[in-house]
Amino acid sequence: MKRLVVKIGSSLLASAEHGLNTKRLHSITKDISDVVDKGCEVVIVSSGAIAAGLKKLGLKEKPRDIKLKQAAAAIGQSSLMWAYEHSFADFGKKTAQVLLTRDDVINRARFINAKNTLLTLLSYKVIPVINENDPVAIDEIKFGDNDFLASLVSGLVEAEMLVILSDVEGLYTKNPEQEGAVLINCVDEITKEIEMTAGGKGSAVGTGGMYSKLLAAKQAVNYGIPVAIISGKKSGLLLRLLEGGKVGTYFKPQKERISSKKGWIAYGLKSKGMVYLDEGAVKALTMHGKSLLPSGISKIEGEFNIGDAVSCLNPVGKKIAKGLTNYSSEELARIKGKKTSEIEGVLGYKYSDEVIHRDNLVLV
Ligand code: GLU
Repeated sequence: MKRLVVKIGSSLLASAEHGLNTKRLHSITKDISDVVDKGCEVVIVSSGAIAAGLKKLGLKEKPRDIKLKQAAAAIGQSSLMWAYEHSFADFGKKTAQVLLTRDDVINRARFINAKNTLLTLLSYKVIPVINENDPVAIDEIKFGDNDFLASLVSGLVEAEMLVILSDVEGLYTKNPEQEGAVLINCVDEITKEIEMTAGGKGSAVGTGGMYSKLLAAKQAVNYGIPVAIISGKKSGLLLRLLEGGKVGTYFKPQKERISSKKGWIAYGLKSKGMVYLDEGAVKALTMHGKSLLPSGISKIEGEFNIGDAVSCLNPVGKKIAKGLTNYSSEELARIKGKKTSEIEGVLGYKYSDEVIHRDNLVLV
């Protein structure tokens, strides 16, 4: 059984001029129903709320005013869900709305809750439709764009593939509107050069654009989840992709799939500080699968508490790992460079031998 996350962009589903494109939505839900009928589990991450709300508000373009944008999202989200509900019903499928903010994935208990809800919906053969909870999200707790949200969700549900439906066929060697642009079938590794091919910014109604899709793809392949960017304008492609056909652009996973807990550490959490490691510790972490001990730490930056996420840097400042610390920055300042047997003597207590236990550490 394949578990897929399918991300659907705003420009596919709605425009300020015409509102929600129910015909397109119907064709996409048909494609998704077809793969569900083949035994796949599908979680949708759908944009389009703001875009769908614009017409109802009589706006010609996406407003800059945050209140208005949030109002448009609130109006559009119900139209969007109504359309999904009816469309999926035509194919005998049930659907459910799940709205998330970044807070829901930063907090471990809420992350697990969200995961359990999604897995329960899937076990009842319901297709969850996730969007950012735009009407209440403020900058600090925003995902920013749904491409990023979709890659987080892929990690959350331990998906076997993330499929991003786009208004173009996939990733091209240059802007697809320019002459000579060629579709790239397969990307082994998302290098800086590949990122450059994607250009900047998104469409008139969406936030993403190819660049943000690439960043999301990069994150997912680092989870060990392959990604495909395919056209959402043509029907039948999703099934073809799953049957092994050459469709759009396929991004190879960079490693074995990591657990959703490690994915949460890597991408759900923001780093609160940094610890610089000596060469020995870098080797222990990257080559021997060891935990981080105080003896390997040479410098600490930022203020953090027990349980916070911190980035681990090599001696020249390159990030090599991220993990949950067992000691605060204040405590680490006192025990850095010391042997584990000295921790108690310095602090008067010891929580654990490791500063970051291997189970709570992800290599970058
Ligand atoms: N959450 C926004 C919406 O539904 C879209 C964000 C994006 O385009 O990535 O309208």
